[in-house]
Amino acid sequence: EQMDNDQQYFQSYDQFQVHELMLRDRPRVSAYYDAIMNNKKLFENKVVLDVGSGTGVLSMFAAKAGAKLVYAVDACPTICDLAEELIKCNGLHDRIQVTNKRVEDIEKFDENIDIIISEWMGFYLFHESMLESVIYARDHFLHTSLQNDDNTSEQNESIIIFPSHAYLYCAPFIDQHIRIESNTMWNDYFDLNFSPIRQYIKNSDLNECVIETIEPSQLVHDAQLIQSIDLRTVRINEIRSMRSFCEFYIDNTCIISGFCFWFDCYFSSNNNSSILRSTRLTTSPYSSKTHWKQTLVFLPEDIYPLKDDIVPVNIKLKQSSTNRRHYNLTISIKKIKENLHNNNNNNNNSEK
Ligand code: SAH
Repeated sequence: EQMDNDQQYFQSYDQFQVHELMLRDRPRVSAYYDAIMNNKKLFENKVVLDVGSGTGVLSMFAAKAGAKLVYAVDACPTICDLAEELIKCNGLHDRIQVTNKRVEDIEKFDENIDIIISEWMGFYLFHESMLESVIYARDHFLHTSLQNDDNTSEQNESIIIFPSHAYLYCAPFIDQHIRIESNTMWNDYFDLNFSPIRQYIKNSDLNECVIETIEPSQLVHDAQLIQSIDLRTVRINEIRSMRSFCEFYIDNTCIISGFCFWFDCYFSSNNNSSILRSTRLTTSPYSSKTHWKQTLVFLPEDIYPLKDDIVPVNIKLKQSSTNRRHYNLTISIKKIKENLHNNNNNNNNSEK
Protein backbone atom coordinates (compact mmCIF):
# COMPACT_ATOMS: atom_id res chain seq x y z
CA GLU A 1 0.00 0.00 0.00
CA GLN A 2 2.79 2.42 0.93
CA MET A 3 4.48 1.60 -2.38
CA ASP A 4 1.26 2.50 -4.25
CA ASN A 5 1.08 5.74 -2.34
CA ASP A 6 4.62 6.56 -3.41
CA GLN A 7 3.84 5.72 -7.01
CA GLN A 8 0.84 8.02 -6.86
CA TYR A 9 2.96 10.68 -5.21
CA PHE A 10 5.62 10.67 -7.91
CA GLN A 11 3.05 10.49 -10.69
CA SER A 12 1.48 13.69 -9.39
CA TYR A 13 4.88 15.41 -9.61
CA ASP A 14 5.53 14.12 -13.12
CA GLN A 15 3.05 16.63 -14.50
CA PHE A 16 4.29 19.86 -15.93
CA GLN A 17 1.41 21.91 -14.43
CA VAL A 18 2.50 21.20 -10.86
CA HIS A 19 5.97 22.52 -11.62
CA GLU A 20 4.58 25.49 -13.49
CA LEU A 21 2.55 26.40 -10.40
CA MET A 22 5.70 26.23 -8.25
CA LEU A 23 7.79 28.20 -10.76
CA ARG A 24 5.16 30.94 -10.80
CA ASP A 25 5.27 31.18 -7.00
CA ARG A 26 7.56 34.19 -6.76
CA PRO A 27 8.01 34.36 -2.98
CA ARG A 28 9.09 30.72 -3.09
CA VAL A 29 11.57 30.97 -5.95
CA SER A 30 12.98 34.35 -4.99
CA ALA A 31 13.72 33.16 -1.45
CA TYR A 32 15.86 30.34 -2.89
CA TYR A 33 17.40 32.69 -5.44
CA ASP A 34 18.36 35.23 -2.77
CA ALA A 35 19.58 32.61 -0.32
CA ILE A 36 21.83 31.02 -2.94
CA MET A 37 22.97 34.13 -4.83
CA ASN A 38 23.71 36.10 -1.65
CA ASN A 39 25.91 33.26 -0.45
CA LYS A 40 28.17 32.77 -3.46
CA LYS A 41 31.17 32.32 -1.17
CA LEU A 42 29.48 29.27 0.30
CA PHE A 43 28.77 27.69 -3.09
CA GLU A 44 32.03 28.49 -4.87
CA ASN A 45 33.74 25.26 -5.97
CA LYS A 46 31.45 23.12 -3.84
CA VAL A 47 29.58 19.93 -4.69
CA VAL A 48 25.84 20.36 -4.22
CA LEU A 49 23.00 17.83 -4.03
CA ASP A 50 19.52 19.06 -5.03
CA VAL A 51 17.02 16.62 -3.49
CA GLY A 52 13.92 16.57 -5.71
CA SER A 53 15.27 18.87 -8.40
CA GLY A 54 12.12 19.04 -10.58
CA THR A 55 12.80 21.42 -13.45
CA GLY A 56 16.32 21.94 -12.08
CA VAL A 57 15.71 25.56 -11.16
CA LEU A 58 17.52 25.39 -7.80
CA SER A 59 20.37 23.33 -9.28
CA MET A 60 20.88 26.04 -11.88
CA PHE A 61 20.94 28.75 -9.20
CA ALA A 62 23.62 26.75 -7.37
CA ALA A 63 25.67 26.30 -10.54
CA LYS A 64 25.41 30.03 -11.32
CA ALA A 65 26.51 30.77 -7.76
CA GLY A 66 29.76 28.95 -8.50
CA ALA A 67 29.21 25.32 -7.52
CA LYS A 68 31.68 23.10 -9.35
CA LEU A 69 29.21 20.20 -9.57
CA VAL A 70 25.50 19.85 -8.84
CA TYR A 71 23.75 16.49 -8.58
CA ALA A 72 20.12 17.09 -9.52
CA VAL A 73 18.04 14.11 -8.37
CA ASP A 74 14.36 13.58 -9.07
CA ALA A 75 12.20 10.47 -9.20
CA CYS A 76 10.01 11.80 -12.02
CA PRO A 77 11.18 10.85 -15.54
CA THR A 78 9.33 13.46 -17.61
CA ILE A 79 10.44 16.31 -15.38
CA CYS A 80 14.05 15.08 -15.47
CA ASP A 81 13.93 15.24 -19.30
CA LEU A 82 12.63 18.79 -19.08
CA ALA A 83 15.36 19.66 -16.55
CA GLU A 84 18.03 18.33 -18.97
CA GLU A 85 16.63 20.53 -21.73
CA LEU A 86 16.53 23.64 -19.55
CA ILE A 87 20.01 23.02 -18.16
CA LYS A 88 21.45 22.66 -21.71
CA CYS A 89 19.59 25.76 -22.81
CA ASN A 90 21.39 27.68 -20.05
CA GLY A 91 24.78 26.19 -20.88
CA LEU A 92 25.11 24.59 -17.44
CA HIS A 93 25.20 20.91 -18.50
CA ASP A 94 28.91 20.60 -17.79
CA ARG A 95 28.29 21.31 -14.11
CA ILE A 96 24.86 19.76 -13.42
CA GLN A 97 24.29 16.04 -13.51
CA VAL A 98 20.62 14.97 -13.63
CA THR A 99 19.75 11.58 -12.13
CA ASN A 100 16.24 10.18 -12.49
CA LYS A 101 15.96 8.19 -9.27
CA ARG A 102 14.54 8.34 -5.80
CA VAL A 103 17.32 9.76 -3.68
CA GLU A 104 16.92 6.72 -1.39
CA ASP A 105 17.79 4.43 -4.32
CA ILE A 106 21.15 6.05 -4.98
CA GLU A 107 24.06 4.11 -3.59
CA LYS A 108 26.76 6.72 -3.80
CA PHE A 109 27.91 9.79 -5.65
CA ASP A 110 31.34 10.00 -7.23
CA GLU A 111 32.19 13.11 -5.27
CA ASN A 112 31.63 14.11 -1.65
CA ILE A 113 28.57 16.29 -1.13
CA ASP A 114 29.24 19.63 0.63
CA ILE A 115 25.80 21.25 0.49
CA ILE A 116 22.21 20.00 0.21
CA ILE A 117 19.49 22.17 -1.28
CA SER A 118 15.88 21.06 -1.46
CA GLU A 119 12.36 22.34 -1.72
CA TRP A 120 10.54 19.69 0.27
CA MET A 121 7.88 21.68 2.11
CA GLY A 122 4.22 20.69 1.87
CA PHE A 123 0.98 22.12 3.19
CA TYR A 124 1.29 22.77 6.95
CA LEU A 125 5.00 22.06 6.35
CA PHE A 126 4.87 18.30 6.84
CA HIS A 127 2.35 17.14 4.20
CA GLU A 128 4.03 14.80 1.65
CA SER A 129 6.67 13.71 4.23
CA MET A 130 9.39 14.65 1.78
CA LEU A 131 11.48 15.97 4.67
CA GLU A 132 12.31 12.33 5.40
CA SER A 133 14.09 12.10 2.05
CA VAL A 134 16.16 15.19 2.85
CA ILE A 135 17.14 13.73 6.22
CA TYR A 136 18.03 10.48 4.46
CA ALA A 137 20.24 12.36 2.00
CA ARG A 138 21.88 14.33 4.82
CA ASP A 139 22.72 11.20 6.78
CA HIS A 140 23.92 9.17 3.81
CA PHE A 141 25.65 11.65 1.55
CA LEU A 142 26.58 14.91 3.25
CA HIS A 143 30.23 14.43 4.09
CA THR A 144 30.19 16.90 6.98
CA SER A 145 27.46 14.88 8.65
CA LEU A 146 29.32 11.59 8.03
CA GLN A 147 32.57 12.62 9.68
CA ASN A 148 31.58 11.26 13.05
CA ASP A 149 28.49 9.79 14.58
CA ASP A 150 28.03 11.80 17.73
CA ASN A 151 26.61 15.14 16.70
CA THR A 152 28.84 17.75 18.25
CA SER A 153 27.50 21.26 17.94
CA GLU A 154 30.74 22.28 16.26
CA GLN A 155 30.13 19.70 13.58
CA ASN A 156 26.51 20.83 13.14
CA GLU A 157 27.80 24.31 12.37
CA SER A 158 29.59 22.97 9.33
CA ILE A 159 26.53 21.21 7.91
CA ILE A 160 24.96 23.25 5.15
CA ILE A 161 21.38 22.51 4.15
CA PHE A 162 19.14 25.07 2.43
CA PRO A 163 16.69 25.76 3.96
CA SER A 164 18.34 25.22 7.34
CA HIS A 165 15.39 25.88 9.65
CA ALA A 166 11.63 25.57 9.43
CA TYR A 167 8.97 26.86 11.83
CA LEU A 168 5.29 25.98 12.00
CA TYR A 169 2.81 28.51 13.43
CA CYS A 170 -0.78 28.34 14.59
CA ALA A 171 -3.38 31.06 15.14
CA PRO A 172 -7.13 30.98 15.81
CA PHE A 173 -9.31 32.43 13.04
CA ILE A 174 -12.89 33.43 12.42
CA ASP A 175 -14.56 32.37 9.20
CA GLN A 176 -17.91 33.61 7.98
CA HIS A 177 -18.08 31.96 4.58
CA ILE A 178 -16.53 28.55 4.23
CA ARG A 179 -18.49 26.82 6.98
CA ILE A 180 -21.76 28.47 6.06
CA GLU A 181 -21.32 27.57 2.44
CA SER A 182 -20.50 23.98 3.24
CA ASN A 183 -23.48 23.79 5.62
CA THR A 184 -26.16 25.44 3.56
CA MET A 185 -25.23 25.26 -0.08
CA TRP A 186 -26.65 21.75 -0.64
CA ASN A 187 -29.67 22.20 1.59
CA ASP A 188 -31.08 24.76 -0.74
CA TYR A 189 -29.52 24.13 -4.10
CA PHE A 190 -31.45 26.07 -6.76
CA ASP A 191 -34.58 25.41 -4.71
CA LEU A 192 -33.76 21.69 -4.47
CA ASN A 193 -32.68 19.70 -1.44
CA PHE A 194 -29.35 18.22 -2.42
CA SER A 195 -28.18 17.43 1.10
CA PRO A 196 -27.78 13.64 0.54
CA ILE A 197 -24.91 14.48 -1.80
CA ARG A 198 -22.84 15.60 1.17
CA GLN A 199 -21.86 12.07 2.13
CA TYR A 200 -20.11 11.72 -1.26
CA ILE A 201 -18.33 15.03 -1.14
CA LYS A 202 -14.84 15.37 0.18
CA ASN A 203 -14.69 17.48 3.28
CA SER A 204 -18.37 18.36 3.34
CA ASP A 205 -18.28 18.45 7.14
CA LEU A 206 -14.99 20.34 7.16
CA ASN A 207 -13.38 17.47 9.00
CA GLU A 208 -10.36 17.70 6.74
CA CYS A 209 -7.95 20.58 6.36
CA VAL A 210 -8.97 23.36 4.00
CA ILE A 211 -6.13 24.86 1.96
CA GLU A 212 -7.10 28.49 1.48
CA THR A 213 -5.66 31.94 1.94
CA ILE A 214 -6.95 33.86 4.89
CA GLU A 215 -7.12 37.62 5.49
CA PRO A 216 -5.05 38.88 8.45
CA SER A 217 -8.26 40.48 9.76
CA GLN A 218 -9.69 36.96 10.24
CA LEU A 219 -7.00 36.08 12.77
CA VAL A 220 -8.33 36.66 16.26
CA HIS A 221 -4.97 36.30 18.01
CA ASP A 222 -1.25 36.47 17.25
CA ALA A 223 0.25 33.22 16.00
CA GLN A 224 2.19 30.92 18.27
CA LEU A 225 5.18 28.84 17.26
CA ILE A 226 4.27 25.17 17.55
CA GLN A 227 7.16 23.32 15.87
CA SER A 228 10.71 24.25 15.03
CA ILE A 229 12.91 22.10 12.87
CA ASP A 230 16.68 22.40 12.58
CA LEU A 231 17.41 20.58 9.32
CA ARG A 232 20.99 19.91 10.39
CA THR A 233 20.01 17.77 13.36
CA VAL A 234 16.35 16.70 13.11
CA ARG A 235 15.77 12.93 13.07
CA ILE A 236 13.06 11.05 11.21
CA ASN A 237 11.37 9.68 14.34
CA GLU A 238 10.96 13.24 15.63
CA ILE A 239 8.71 14.22 12.72
CA ARG A 240 6.46 11.15 12.61
CA SER A 241 4.49 12.20 15.64
CA MET A 242 4.54 15.69 17.15
CA ARG A 243 2.61 17.29 19.96
CA SER A 244 2.42 20.87 21.08
CA PHE A 245 0.44 22.90 23.51
CA CYS A 246 -0.37 26.59 23.41
CA GLU A 247 -2.59 29.02 25.24
CA PHE A 248 -4.29 31.95 23.58
CA TYR A 249 -5.09 34.88 25.85
CA ILE A 250 -8.24 36.53 24.56
CA ASP A 251 -8.15 40.34 24.60
CA ASN A 252 -11.67 40.83 23.36
CA THR A 253 -14.73 38.62 23.23
CA CYS A 254 -14.55 36.90 19.86
CA ILE A 255 -15.55 33.96 17.70
CA ILE A 256 -13.10 31.16 16.92
CA SER A 257 -14.06 28.98 13.95
CA GLY A 258 -10.83 27.05 13.84
CA PHE A 259 -7.06 27.21 13.74
CA CYS A 260 -4.90 28.35 10.90
CA PHE A 261 -1.42 26.94 10.20
CA TRP A 262 1.48 28.26 8.17
CA PHE A 263 5.27 27.98 8.08
CA ASP A 264 8.44 29.97 7.60
CA CYS A 265 11.82 28.69 6.40
CA TYR A 266 15.21 30.26 6.94
CA PHE A 267 18.39 29.78 4.95
CA SER A 268 21.25 30.08 7.38
CA SER A 269 24.78 28.87 6.84
CA ASN A 270 26.03 28.74 10.38
CA ASN A 271 25.06 29.38 13.96
CA ASN A 272 21.71 30.33 15.41
CA SER A 273 22.59 33.98 15.94
CA SER A 274 22.57 34.58 12.22
CA ILE A 275 19.18 33.01 11.51
CA LEU A 276 17.30 36.26 11.82
CA ARG A 277 19.64 37.92 9.37
CA SER A 278 19.32 35.12 6.84
CA THR A 279 16.87 34.86 3.94
CA ARG A 280 13.34 33.95 4.96
CA LEU A 281 10.59 32.23 2.99
CA THR A 282 7.28 32.90 4.70
CA THR A 283 3.82 31.54 3.95
CA SER A 284 2.18 33.81 6.52
CA PRO A 285 -1.18 35.47 5.81
CA TYR A 286 0.56 38.80 6.52
CA SER A 287 2.87 38.34 3.50
CA SER A 288 2.54 37.80 -0.24
CA LYS A 289 0.49 34.76 -1.15
CA THR A 290 2.26 31.52 -2.05
CA HIS A 291 0.95 28.30 -3.57
CA TRP A 292 0.95 26.80 -0.05
CA LYS A 293 -1.73 29.32 0.99
CA GLN A 294 -2.63 28.56 4.62
CA THR A 295 -4.01 25.39 6.18
CA LEU A 296 -7.33 25.85 7.98
CA VAL A 297 -8.59 23.36 10.52
CA PHE A 298 -12.22 23.90 11.51
CA LEU A 299 -13.63 23.12 14.94
CA PRO A 300 -16.93 21.15 14.82
CA GLU A 301 -18.64 24.37 15.92
CA ASP A 302 -17.55 27.94 16.45
CA ILE A 303 -16.56 28.78 20.02
CA TYR A 304 -17.14 32.10 21.77
CA PRO A 305 -14.43 32.92 24.29
CA LEU A 306 -14.95 36.04 26.38
CA LYS A 307 -12.58 38.88 27.10
CA ASP A 308 -9.73 37.70 29.35
CA ASP A 309 -10.43 34.00 28.79
CA ILE A 310 -7.58 31.65 28.06
CA VAL A 311 -8.06 29.08 25.30
CA PRO A 312 -5.74 26.09 25.89
CA VAL A 313 -5.07 24.09 22.74
CA ASN A 314 -3.41 20.72 22.24
CA ILE A 315 -2.19 20.02 18.74
CA LYS A 316 -1.15 16.61 17.50
CA LEU A 317 0.43 15.95 14.12
CA LYS A 318 0.80 12.29 13.35
CA GLN A 319 1.87 10.65 10.13
CA SER A 320 -1.03 8.58 8.80
CA SER A 321 -0.53 4.82 9.11
CA THR A 322 -2.31 4.15 5.80
CA ASN A 323 -0.54 6.80 3.73
CA ARG A 324 2.77 8.07 5.02
CA ARG A 325 2.49 11.10 2.72
CA HIS A 326 -0.40 12.37 4.88
CA TYR A 327 -0.71 13.47 8.49
CA ASN A 328 -3.60 13.36 10.92
CA LEU A 329 -3.90 16.74 12.54
CA THR A 330 -5.83 16.71 15.80
CA ILE A 331 -6.79 19.77 17.77
CA SER A 332 -8.30 19.51 21.20
CA ILE A 333 -9.34 22.37 23.40
CA LYS A 334 -9.47 21.85 27.09
CA LYS A 335 -12.10 23.80 28.95
CA ILE A 336 -11.73 27.52 28.35
CA LYS A 337 -10.27 29.06 31.47
CA GLU A 338 -11.24 32.33 33.01
CA ASN A 339 -8.20 34.40 33.55
CA LEU A 340 -8.76 35.21 37.23
CA HIS A 341 -5.76 37.44 37.56
CA ASN A 342 -6.95 39.73 34.79
CA ASN A 343 -10.53 39.66 36.01
CA ASN A 344 -9.40 40.88 39.43
CA ASN A 345 -7.52 43.68 37.81
CA ASN A 346 -10.56 44.63 35.86
CA ASN A 347 -12.70 44.66 38.96
CA ASN A 348 -10.20 46.94 40.61
CA ASN A 349 -10.28 49.15 37.61
CA SER A 350 -14.02 49.38 37.58
CA GLU A 351 -14.01 50.36 41.25
CA LYS A 352 -11.80 53.33 40.63
N1 SAH B 1 13.23 21.68 -6.77
C1 SAH B 1 12.11 21.92 -7.68
C2 SAH B 1 10.96 20.95 -7.47
C3 SAH B 1 10.38 20.95 -6.06
S1 SAH B 1 8.97 19.88 -5.90
C4 SAH B 1 11.65 23.34 -7.53
O1 SAH B 1 12.02 23.97 -6.54
O2 SAH B 1 10.92 23.84 -8.38
C5 SAH B 1 9.63 18.44 -5.17
C6 SAH B 1 10.25 17.48 -6.17
O3 SAH B 1 10.90 16.50 -5.41
C7 SAH B 1 9.27 16.76 -7.06
O4 SAH B 1 9.66 16.93 -8.41
C8 SAH B 1 9.36 15.29 -6.64
O5 SAH B 1 9.25 14.39 -7.72
C9 SAH B 1 10.74 15.23 -6.04
N2 SAH B 1 10.95 14.22 -5.00
C10 SAH B 1 10.23 14.06 -3.85
N3 SAH B 1 10.73 13.06 -3.10
C11 SAH B 1 11.81 12.57 -3.78
C12 SAH B 1 12.73 11.53 -3.53
N4 SAH B 1 12.66 10.78 -2.42
N5 SAH B 1 13.71 11.28 -4.44
C13 SAH B 1 13.77 12.02 -5.58
N6 SAH B 1 12.92 13.02 -5.86
C14 SAH B 1 11.95 13.30 -4.99
